[in-house]
Amino acid sequence: MNFKDYIRVIPDFPQPGIRFKDITTLLKDGPAYRAAIDALKELVKDKEIDLIAGPEARGFVIGAPLALALGIGFIPIRKSGKLPGDTVEAAYDLEYGNDRLAIHSDSILPGQKVLIADDLLATGGTISTSIELIQKLGGEVVGAAFLIELSYLTGRDKLSGIDIASLITY
Ligand code: AMP
Repeated sequence: MNFKDYIRVIPDFPQPGIRFKDITTLLKDGPAYRAAIDALKELVKDKEIDLIAGPEARGFVIGAPLALALGIGFIPIRKSGKLPGDTVEAAYDLEYGNDRLAIHSDSILPGQKVLIADDLLATGGTISTSIELIQKLGGEVVGAAFLIELSYLTGRDKLSGIDIASLITY
């Protein structure tokens, strides 16, 4: 399946110069959504993984079904102020803007192997911050899986040492 055919590119959203990769056109197509999750599962199948962690909000729609497919648990990484329990937090930058991310302090036990999942790798800011949070809890990041990688933003270089799997590259 050519997954790129299912992604809609919207120019100048959310601000001029950004070519927004809209995954909602893939998500609404049941067989394509399922095939994408199956393909991501195939890419990470040889890894030993205890948990999947995904940053809100689109990391949830990729990470949670991937966790289900692998038969393991899912941990949400959220914007500051959204998680109800005790959290650890870190600041992060986006291709457009910046914010703080948080994770529940008790969500990962020291030594647990965590795969990060998200819809898209752009500058790598979100994922480096997610890695920082997981490592603060003593988790071991065993890789990161994405539907889309924007190779022209060289996010991969920011994540040296992390094994990266992506289905679609622009
Ligand atoms: P980054 O931290 O720069 O790697 O940005 C990754 C996050 O921002 C992803 O979770 C995407 O949801 C979102 N994002 C950044 N750039 C784009 C883009 N061009 N199209 C769609 N989503 C984007």
